[in-house]
Formats: sequence, C-alpha cells, structure tokens
Amino acid sequence: MSDEPHHLSTQLVQLGRRAEWTEPAVNPPIWRASTHLYENSAAQQAGLKVNADGHFHYGARGGPTQWALADALTVLEPGAAGTMLYPTGLAAAAMALLSVLKAGDEVLVADNCYDPSRTIAVQALRDYGISARFFDPHDVAGFAAAIGDATRAVLLENPGSVSMEVCDIPALTAAAKARGLAVLLDNTWAGPTGFQALKHGVDLSILALTKHVGGHSDLMLGAVTANAACYPRLRRRSLMLGQMASPDDCALALRGLRTMGVRLERSCASALTVAEWLQSRSEIAAVLFPMLPGSPGHELWKRDFTGGCGLMTIIMAGKDAKARDALVDALSLFGIGYSWGGFESLALGSHPERDRDVLPWPPRGIDPENRFAVRLWIGLEEPADLIADLERGLAAWADS
Ligand SMILES: *Cc1c(COP(=O)(O)O)cnc(C)c1O
Repeated sequence: MSDEPHHLSTQLVQLGRRAEWTEPAVNPPIWRASTHLYENSAAQQAGLKVNADGHFHYGARGGPTQWALADALTVLEPGAAGTMLYPTGLAAAAMALLSVLKAGDEVLVADNCYDPSRTIAVQALRDYGISARFFDPHDVAGFAAAIGDATRAVLLENPGSVSMEVCDIPALTAAAKARGLAVLLDNTWAGPTGFQALKHGVDLSILALTKHVGGHSDLMLGAVTANAACYPRLRRRSLMLGQMASPDDCALALRGLRTMGVRLERSCASALTVAEWLQSRSEIAAVLFPMLPGSPGHELWKRDFTGGCGLMTIIMAGKDAKARDALVDALSLFGIGYSWGGFESLALGSHPERDRDVLPWPPRGIDPENRFAVRLWIGLEEPADLIADLERGLAAWADS
C-alpha cells in the first residue's frame, strides 16, 4: 500500500494484504499453526528476544492471517498503534478493561452501555477489587465531578446499542484527560468507518467484529485498537492471559471487511427509509435512530460521525409487553435473535429499563407511558418488503 490515504472504499479493498502475508493469493491464506519451526537454536533463542507484532514465535501470538486482520483494523483507525484480537467482542471489552485497571482502582461506566459490559464491571471486576460506578453520559459536568482519586478509566458506548443515546465524546474525553483517565469506547455501532474513535480522544476502541465486519452471522470475534499510550499494556496483558483468535475466523473477518463498505451503505440507506416510515406511524411513540433527522442525538451524530449502521430501537405508543411481543411474532422477514450486523434483518423485544442505574427509561423527552421497545436491525432485503412486514406487525400490535 502506498502511504497516501485513500478513500475508504479503496482502503477496505487494500488493507492487510501485504505481499509477505498473501502472495501469490489475493487473500491471506489460513495459516493454521501452533508451532513455528526455527532453523536452528540460535534462531530460536533470537526469536525469544523478539517481542514485536508480526514475528513468528508461537501460535498464541498469531500468524499472518491474524496479523493481516489486526493490521487492517489498525490502519482503519487513524492514531492507532496496534490492534489485539479476541474470540468475542465481549472478551475484547473485558481485556481492554483489564489492561488499564488494577485492584484499588475505579472505573466509571456510561449508563447507556449494553448489559454484558455492565456485568463485567460490576461483577467480575468487583471480585478483583476494582470498583465501578455508572454515570449519565449526557451530563459532562456531572461526569467530571464524579471522577475520584481512585478513578483510572471510563467506559463509553456511543450510541448505546440498545437505547441509542448518543453522547458528546470530545467533551467527555476532554474531562477524562484532564484527570488522566484512560478512555475506552465500545465503537461497535458505527465502527471505525463511521466514527474515528482515537481522533476524538479515545485511547482504546472496542469492536465486536461479530457484527458488521463478519457481516454474515456466522462468526464470533472481537478487537481492541489502541493508541501508543495504551497499546503496549493491552498487548502485554492480552498475551499474558492467553488471548488469541483463530486464523479461520480472522480469514472470514477479512473477507467480510472487503464488502463491509457496500453492506453498511445499503443497510444505512434502507434503515433511513424504514425509520422515516416508522416515524410517520401513530402506533410508534419514538424512533431512536441517530442518523434520522429529529431523532434524539441526531445533532451530535451529524457533528462527530461519518457513518453508522442499520440498528435502531422503536418505542411503542402505550399498550403492554404482550402487544409488543405480538408485533415481533407477526414479522416474517425479521428473525428474532440476538446480535446484529448480518445480511438479514432482525427484531428483538428489548428491556432497557432493566439495565440502567441513573438514566430514565424511556429517555427524557418521551412520555413515560410509552416504554415497550423493539430493537430492529435492518439488513440487505428490499426496504419495501421490510416495510410491508412491519405493517403486518403493527396490525398485530393494534389487534392485541
Ligand atoms: C454484540 C456486542 C458486543 C459483544 O460482541 P460479541 O462478539 O457478541 O461478544 C459488544 N458491544 C456491543 C455494542 C455489541 O452490540
């Protein structure tokens, strides 16, 4: 690759395809290896001293397939020093936290973070002597005031992947930096092509590659991309605790990366069409989708993001959980399932009120009578077909 920065779609084609990892194939072959053989003892002993990325050592430090994916993700994030790979997105979040915290420390967790990240903070970390407190990510002054002597890090998610609240990352990172905190962001919704996390002051950007990068609902994988201040610690701690991803999964992720740009473009365009239609329906009290003009967080999205994805949450106008479930069950093109980011659309009744300590549900500005939510992932189907399906769902909601 030349040093000149290319347009994103060109980058997605080129990234990670270094000659030494691919040639003569287009894609890096799947290097399945635990053991790398050395030429002689001197080479083996020299190998022990090499402690850098991209060097054969032992399978636990990866091989060319993993290096190609890590390299691609590092280049996609301006300001990054390196990327570590993990078997799931959740493992990536856990390792990012463990790389910046130790016993006696405190982490502040944005209250719009999704449930499993919250559980790491309040259950796993607490058992290791690290305390966690939740804060309202819309209240920057409140966040600054909450930073205590033991606070070392802050975990953000933007937007929250269930409740879709967008926060002011530059303002929060400025407040965090003023007190020397490490800033961790779960950037899975927009990904590096939609939000340049490190440029906005984040130190460690967490991605569930399971979502858009995989893109085909057949892969679990995570990554953390970090700046020069945090990458050495992240790498050391991750290798120490035996974290590595399989070459097969990394090859699938690299394949997904090549088409991610067009898939996301299509998913965003379709999601906007669907969201505008949903917004016009009286059965729906609110469409929470930051890319949609008029949706909460749209102004911050417009200021800070260059893209997004087709994940949104709708809040139904009144009624109850039974009616919400009738809507979801009446859909035929939308599967009912966890995760998102694949080619196929999904719907899931969601319960953000169960996973919030300080933020209200529904979000401020929405009548509290309206609180039954459905999360929608808009895939690659024709939007008119998805709308027809949702029309059937709304009829079932009205009838129940
Ligand atoms: C799915 C998801 C994760 C976790 O990824 P897995 O690969 O499922 O472990 C982390 N953060 C967000 C925002 C997610 O949506």
